[in-house]
Amino acid sequence: MPPIPQPRHDHYDIVFIGGGSGGVAGSRRAASYGKKVALIESTHRLGGTCVNVGCVPKKIMWHAADIADKIRHAEGYQFKGPGIGAPQFDWKSFKPQRDAYIKRLNGIYDNNVAKEGVDYFHGTASLVSPSEVEVVTEDGSKLSLKTDYICVATGGRPTIPSDDKIPGASLGIDSDGFFDLEEQPKRVAVVGAGYIAVELAGVFNTLGTETHLVIRQDNFLRTFDPTIYEALGNWAEHTGIHIHKKSQIVKVEGEKGKALTIHTDKGETFEVDCLLWAIGRHANTEGLNLEKLGVELDKKGQIVTNEYQESSVPGILSVGDVQGRVLLTPVAIAAARRLANRLFGPPKFKNEKLDYSDVPTVVFSHPPIGTVGLTEPEAIEKYGKDNIKIYKSSFRALYFSMVKEEEKEPSVYKLIVTGPEEKVVGIHIIGLGSDEVVQGFAVALKMGATKEDFDNTIAIHPTSGEELVTLR
Ligand code: FAD
Ligand code: NDP
Repeated sequence: MPPIPQPRHDHYDIVFIGGGSGGVAGSRRAASYGKKVALIESTHRLGGTCVNVGCVPKKIMWHAADIADKIRHAEGYQFKGPGIGAPQFDWKSFKPQRDAYIKRLNGIYDNNVAKEGVDYFHGTASLVSPSEVEVVTEDGSKLSLKTDYICVATGGRPTIPSDDKIPGASLGIDSDGFFDLEEQPKRVAVVGAGYIAVELAGVFNTLGTETHLVIRQDNFLRTFDPTIYEALGNWAEHTGIHIHKKSQIVKVEGEKGKALTIHTDKGETFEVDCLLWAIGRHANTEGLNLEKLGVELDKKGQIVTNEYQESSVPGILSVGDVQGRVLLTPVAIAAARRLANRLFGPPKFKNEKLDYSDVPTVVFSHPPIGTVGLTEPEAIEKYGKDNIKIYKSSFRALYFSMVKEEEKEPSVYKLIVTGPEEKVVGIHIIGLGSDEVVQGFAVALKMGATKEDFDNTIAIHPTSGEELVTLR
């Protein structure tokens, strides 16, 4: 169902600005309680970052890369025939197929909001007051929506250094641009040390692109547990990613779409066909008129909210990436649904709010990482070195028993426990299947499980997950 052209109501109960993970989830939940709900999205597609230029197309690319690895491993399992051992990925054919799937998802999102009775408008929104939103549509006409509540869910966008700071920086692309690439670059430089840099460098490298990862420090993923980033760092180098440590790009020369020469502050120079900046994201708060209305923003321009997603101005709420707390799709969705439950749901939800602690997360690296709870440095800081204990196992998943020595990916599983009861406060795993293993263990951690509870759970054999219940 396409967006509607005019408001159907003189007054809404709530208007969501931004049709991404948070806005779609919150508007649908609010409408499910019979409320009058509007949702405004400035692009032509619902789903936001996650569906269009984030989680979904990224995970599809991760699967493609994973298959490339499997084709290489197939040799060890004595599969014969052309192509076995030497994957040939046709990026050019794959991209339109991936895009078509995303378009289908956009359609499903349109239908879902329509089915729930949400009034969906296409246009750019700003706040006139805490009870009025203006929408400028594509043809320049303006709509006014009157409402009790406004929820800002405008997400964020990638940060790219200016050409003033780094001459030639704009010759590079960002993660949005990654999903526009029609062909696989032969050589790429990825700059950054967070999720996106690591995931996209991993995809490129596994699919056969010569991959340079330029990081400012000695390690990437520095907010993760050291055991994890050290294991991945070593493996990434082993698989041929050129990691330029303690390096910053100072100049880029060339032409967009052609070979680029990268210069670093260490005096290194190398050539690539694509430069990708993945140095973080910033909130979409400009142009919304928030500051004029007195909505407090932090120094990064993110909306400051309390535990109930309320901004400093009554009636103006916010969920998701735009308020800069744990930038993950399930977090935006959970915050938005809880907010809608609290405002419009049955009395049992009157104090509903999202608990932002112990959020499980996965990095879709090669191999993948799963993590929940405190890292070792965080646990030491919180409980003291003498009050925590580490259980750790390094192993190779059985799957790798049949592949060449140099292709055997590492697995490292680590539990952090505290106190005499050995309460589990951190789980950090890397290796085949970690992306799937961690979800269930996160339930255990969230419930306050102890090491003994883990030990009392019979292992499932032969799996990697069993390592977590047999640690000594
Ligand atoms: P968004 O999804 O960004 O939605 C905001 C929407 O608001 C956008 O559609 C935007 O067009 C619209 N908008 C902005 N301004 C206006 C305006 N003035 N008027 C109307 N509309 C407006 N998270 C995970 O959990 N797992 C992953 O694997 C994962 N992978 C990722 C990979 C990449 C490359 C990226 C970039 C992110 C990834 N994330 C992942 C993070 C995840 O995508 C975000 O946390 C999530 O999309 C945030 O949802 P949101 O609703 O806050 O914002
Ligand atoms: P992050 O904030 O995770 O990482 C960016 C990192 O880049 C920084 O931590 C910093 O690391 C480094 N950096 C910052 N500025 C510069 C600079 N000027 N030059 C070089 N390096 C720099 O951002 P991402 O863009 O990777 O991802 C944004 C968020 O999206 C993530 O935090 C995550 O929440 C979400 N996401 C989730 C995914 C998932 O769930 N699998 C996948 C992708 C994104 P350092 O200080 O070490 O240099």
